[in-house]
Amino acid sequence: MNVLLVEDEEAISRPLATLLRTEGWSIEIAPTAARARERIGACSFDAALIDLGLPDGSGYEVCRAVRAAGDAAVIILTARSDEDSVVRALEEGADDYVAKPFRARELVSRLRAVLRRRGAKPAAVFGALTVDARSAQVTLDGAPVQLTAQEYRLLLLLVSQAGRVWERGQLLQALWDEGGAFVEDNTLTVTVKRLREKLGREGARVVTVRGIGYRWEDKP
Ligand code: CA
Repeated sequence: MNVLLVEDEEAISRPLATLLRTEGWSIEIAPTAARARERIGACSFDAALIDLGLPDGSGYEVCRAVRAAGDAAVIILTARSDEDSVVRALEEGADDYVAKPFRARELVSRLRAVLRRRGAKPAAVFGALTVDARSAQVTLDGAPVQLTAQEYRLLLLLVSQAGRVWERGQLLQALWDEGGAFVEDNTLTVTVKRLREKLGREGARVVTVRGIGYRWEDKP
């Protein structure tokens, strides 16, 4: 899931982005309204977290730009918890707002709630396993499975096209970390092993294709 974080204060945006990434979401930070508009025009986002007070404009206009571009979920981050700015944020199309200072965990659960409300795409179900890309939740027998960002990205890729054989090189590229550092071949083997273990009896769906790579088996 792609999230645009529009926030000029690094003290807020950096730790928040780190937390959201550990949830398996892909985050882009825009410190100004101009940068946000540029990114909104260039790619599609599933959600936007928007600070109202930006150095070159207001979060309201960014909110309108997000609304005009697609159906991303919008949460406004505001130091102004007065009724007027909240009402206006909701009128501009925001789904919810969070007053500063907030706890990052609280924001994550608000975001999940908004995505649920918006009636996201139904989650993919494979036996006892459910993979919900919109809320970045994976459950086994109804209980959450804690995956690292790499394990989650690998899982999403595999289930996105069941039966397709992925070459190791393709998977390694997809697992590049956020800083652009190359992931070693051995890391892929280890990531697959851990993912299989965490998926319990559904782990056997990650099938090794000898000499090539892996594929996802969607039939029991
Ligand atoms: Ca600000």
